[in-house]
Amino acid sequence: MTDKHQVIIIGAGPAGYVAAIRCAQLGLDTVCIDRWVDEKGRATPGGTCLNVGCIPSKALLESSEYFERSRNDLANHGVKAVSVELDLATMMARKQKIVSGLNEGVAGLFKSNGVKFISGNARLAPNREVEVNETGEKKPYVLSAENIIIATGSVSSEISAAPLDGDRIVDSSGALAFEEVPKRLGVVGAGAIGLELGSVWRRLGSEVVLLEAQEQFLVIADEQIARDAMKEYTSQGMDIRLGARITGCKTSGKKVTVEYEDSDGTHQEIFDKLVMAVGRTPNTSGLNTSDSGLLLDEWGVIHVDNQCCTNLPCVYAIGDVVRGPMLAHKGSKEGIMVAELIAGQHAELDYDTIPSVIYTQPEIAWVGQTEQMLKSAGRDYRVGRFPFAASGRAQALGETGGMVKVLVDTATDRVLGVHIIGPQASELIAQAKLAMDFQASSEDIGLTMFAHPTLSEAFHEAALAVNGNAIHIGAKKKRKKK
Ligand code: FAD
Ligand code: AMP
Repeated sequence: MTDKHQVIIIGAGPAGYVAAIRCAQLGLDTVCIDRWVDEKGRATPGGTCLNVGCIPSKALLESSEYFERSRNDLANHGVKAVSVELDLATMMARKQKIVSGLNEGVAGLFKSNGVKFISGNARLAPNREVEVNETGEKKPYVLSAENIIIATGSVSSEISAAPLDGDRIVDSSGALAFEEVPKRLGVVGAGAIGLELGSVWRRLGSEVVLLEAQEQFLVIADEQIARDAMKEYTSQGMDIRLGARITGCKTSGKKVTVEYEDSDGTHQEIFDKLVMAVGRTPNTSGLNTSDSGLLLDEWGVIHVDNQCCTNLPCVYAIGDVVRGPMLAHKGSKEGIMVAELIAGQHAELDYDTIPSVIYTQPEIAWVGQTEQMLKSAGRDYRVGRFPFAASGRAQALGETGGMVKVLVDTATDRVLGVHIIGPQASELIAQAKLAMDFQASSEDIGLTMFAHPTLSEAFHEAALAVNGNAIHIGAKKKRKKK
């Protein structure tokens, strides 16, 4: 006789722990199992996002920005800093304190909501049974459930031309824990993770070279925004090489030599550290027994439908382990949707309007369709743009680069996409997501009122600009655009 529950969740990252809390809120008897532990063997629920992802990276982005601004920007504000020094150990300790505090927060939320948390490894067996190996215990035992939610996340992808050695060649987790600032840092992969980590170490003093296999920069972003971002990062001193395919790596002493090919031939670069940021792979190795019957594809992605149902009855999968963008909020929303479906409620998720953010300086954020997507679909659309240079608040901040761009359907005026490069883009994009969820038109956005002076006014003005009605754009420019 096995211990039976209404819901077992495997994984306590932002997908799994949010699903667990929502299940408990809905009155379901819920168990959540996660194997992540710290160096002392203590459970640290929160997954990749909390332990080595979203949170520690944002802590270091914030700290490194303070450092860079103190050195380069304070004088512009009339503030004289006599000497500014880096104390990397304190910066890292601050990051770790934030992570540990939030680990305790997740554990506390489990407790207060009545979720039973088990620290240990879980394996899916047939008939909705789960083999559990508790942390520090030798003997596994079996639990069973009416419903199972798999939320085992992802791990950094590796390429055979540059195997990790945990010292000179590291993944993103290694790059969040360097003990000194590398003099020369190579980053392979110029996606969100590569750009954010490259930014942290550039601000702290590294000479950063990004090697990106694609010929085009940031293919997933709106082309105009990607072009502006490339210019901005390059002017900050980031050396971004496109069309660069790594063919081999050699380590010797404290250095790593990277060989790569591009359209000009073969090249070599020597770095103190090399960060591999070439994407992430679903974490399904060893997840299920061979007879569990769970359907995965050749890359280890668990096969699910639009409601995150796997091929097995009452077994769901959510977050990075299934299709779709590998983003924390996407996984959390899937967790809420599945919990509500299990509780017998109606629930769905709009996969076309998942917001994306790259937390560089300036930040980049978007939701919905890009101009190139609309063009290739043959959609008739109109554009409204507003530059932050014309925003009083951006002027006061001293961050006048970038713009808000609103794309609307010509016939209906309904917003199809919003793209932002500039200050606080990560916060501003929430307004666009809200507008799109409520199926707003640019006219609807134009009819609302935004506090002055705020960066949000740029979103208002970009929506007004769709019909040539932006207030703070010169009339000549407006006419030209029509
Ligand atoms: P995870 O967070 O990976 O959690 C899965 C959990 O399952 C882990 O705790 C793991 O230990 C556990 N587990 C796995 N297998 C088992 C098993 N068999 N038994 C028990 N437990 C198991 N996303 C954003 O949205 N915004 C960002 O700013 C952002 N920044 C990032 C920065 C970095 C450096 C990285 C690496 C990622 C970042 N991401 C960001 C991506 C984000 O971290 C992931 O999308 C998110 O963590 C996925 O959540 P998840 O719950 O699906 O999986
Ligand atoms: P993301 O998927 O957003 O995390 O970004 C990963 C980035 O790494 C993408 O831009 C990929 O094009 C890039 N990439 C993947 N493999 C390689 C490789 N072998 N060399 C250089 N860049 C790569």
